[in-house]
Amino acid sequence: MLEIRDLIKVYPGPVAALQGIDLEVGPGMFGLLGPNGAGKSTLMRILAGLLEPTSGQISLDGHDVTRRPELIWGRLGYLPQEFGFYPHLTGERMLRHLLGLKGVHSPAGLKSLTSELLERVNLTFAAKRKVKTYSGGMRQRLGIAQAIAGNPRLIIVDEPTAGLDPEERLRLYRLLSELAQDRIVLLSTHIVEDVATLCPRFAVIKSGRLLVRTTPTAAREALRGAIYEGAVPADRLEEFENDWHVTQAILVEGRNRVRVYEPDDAPPEGFEPVAPNLEDAYLVLMRPGSAAAVREALFKRLHDHEIAAVASEDAR
Ligand code: ADP
Repeated sequence: MLEIRDLIKVYPGPVAALQGIDLEVGPGMFGLLGPNGAGKSTLMRILAGLLEPTSGQISLDGHDVTRRPELIWGRLGYLPQEFGFYPHLTGERMLRHLLGLKGVHSPAGLKSLTSELLERVNLTFAAKRKVKTYSGGMRQRLGIAQAIAGNPRLIIVDEPTAGLDPEERLRLYRLLSELAQDRIVLLSTHIVEDVATLCPRFAVIKSGRLLVRTTPTAAREALRGAIYEGAVPADRLEEFENDWHVTQAILVEGRNRVRVYEPDDAPPEGFEPVAPNLEDAYLVLMRPGSAAAVREALFKRLHDHEIAAVASEDAR
């Protein structure tokens, strides 16, 4: 269990990047979802022991990490947002080098551990190729290989899917969900689909604060009956967005399909009720200036559903 208590980080400036984060994360995949600048990387880097918090506590399996960060290093794998590469090394050489830096030992030697890890992330075929010839997805998998070396309890993955094509993204999703079967995997992302695909639990962070901690199902349920979809002509879209709480506006076959949040049972003319998706819930939470009452109503629904979800889990 990873426990974070009242974590604060103020950068010189001052920039209050984390304004008191409280979070408990158990085994499995957990998503930390938030827009750019929300404080995700700051939190990930503090958890990885690369950055000191201004104040607060972190413990992993009961060990206080903030006081003795060396306790976490052996139990932690970290894939940073910008994973540094030595482009002229082969994948195999680079991985072996990283394992050496990390101080990972293996009874059978680093060479065989390297082969084992490359196999695990499906890169054996490219072991002898220079890293500069790797695709974005292959580089991420090499990053995962070094992160999982030493079989850590906690793996931290910061924005791993940015820049991957759909096939590479799917492959990474599979690998991450496999890894989450017997450890904590903390995934930071600004992409709602990453959370919808992978995470049975997630938290939303904005401006250094956690807005909500919930499950994708509860978040969708909280909006049931309040999301409507319809067509809006392109020349009316801007005006429409001023009048309604739009969660998504996408082009389908050249026409604007628009989804709105309307909790009071009074949708725009011609709009039909639809099943809410996670993107709707996220955008209702994120909308700048969205009335405090909207958020409060949503939080209340989320809270009720969260309690129901936990109760049904306990009953099992
Ligand atoms: P995210 O990963 O969610 O995009 P970050 O943790 O990178 O967010 O940043 C959170 C806030 O802290 C932003 O306002 C960012 O500009 C600021 N910030 C990040 N790193 C530094 C730094 N080294 N010095 C000053 N401000 C920083």
